[in-house]
Amino acid sequence: MFVYLNGKLVPEEKARVSVFDHGFLYGDGIYETMRAYKGIVFMVDEHIKRLFRSGDLIKLKINLSHEGIKKAIYNSLKKNNLKDAYIRLSISRGQGEIGLDPELCKKPTFVIIAKQFKEYPEELYLRGVKISIVKTRRNTPEALNPKIKSLNFLNNILAKIEAKEAGAYEAIMLNYKGYLTEGTITNIFFIKDNSLFTPSIEAGILDGITRDLIIRVAERKGIKVTEGLYTPENIYDADETFITNTTLEILPVIKIDKNVIGKGIPGSVTKDLHRSYKEEVERYLKTGKN
Ligand code: PLP
Repeated sequence: MFVYLNGKLVPEEKARVSVFDHGFLYGDGIYETMRAYKGIVFMVDEHIKRLFRSGDLIKLKINLSHEGIKKAIYNSLKKNNLKDAYIRLSISRGQGEIGLDPELCKKPTFVIIAKQFKEYPEELYLRGVKISIVKTRRNTPEALNPKIKSLNFLNNILAKIEAKEAGAYEAIMLNYKGYLTEGTITNIFFIKDNSLFTPSIEAGILDGITRDLIIRVAERKGIKVTEGLYTPENIYDADETFITNTTLEILPVIKIDKNVIGKGIPGSVTKDLHRSYKEEVERYLKTGKN
């Protein structure tokens, strides 16, 4: 595998970063995850825009243009002969003396890892998964804004550990007021009486690109979508629930902690939305738009 490292595509074993890199020392940096279908990176412009937003929010100046980043991504796919790929861009503050001052780092470290996309087991989609509402609370926007796709992932990792201990596929975190926010790497939706609900940005979440598309797809299908502040009781009482992200797309949830959702099998609205999402992907592959 060839890894893009600061402008060069180097063999994986040569893709090395300094122990003085502030990404390693302090988790000081940002990232994006993308998915390529049949050689096309789905919603690449939206992901690059969000990367720049994350950069702005941590005052990290990215030393490549939007088009330059796109070119680097496609070169990584080409060099690795990839069509269906998982792509991760990581940008750290860079190498610098020990100390928190960002000015200690002269230039960011820019890495692109592109590897063959490994399909998730079909069974997950057919049967649905169990998730857990964990004790770890989501970072507050005033402390570390969840809108920043930050390399500092401990908040989510602590939640993930709790989910694993509970035998759950994903953890859902509440905010400090006790409202639902999001998963460790996913956004969450639920359906009640054929309407779709999802925590609002104000709850303190990452505005997922998949989330955004699903809202638009649902509205186009005539489904009422409401973004708001919801409690665990609201979701325990749902007819259907699902989680979303770029690589998973839409994954049905059938159980939250001890509460069976709906009939305990993936629901028809969820399955229908997933079909429509896949159509959006196909449309994008043909037209570059959705
Ligand atoms: N929320 C968090 C905390 C995430 O890390 C992610 C994706 O990595 C998402 C939500 C989903 O975002 P997207 O749909 O843009 O992949």
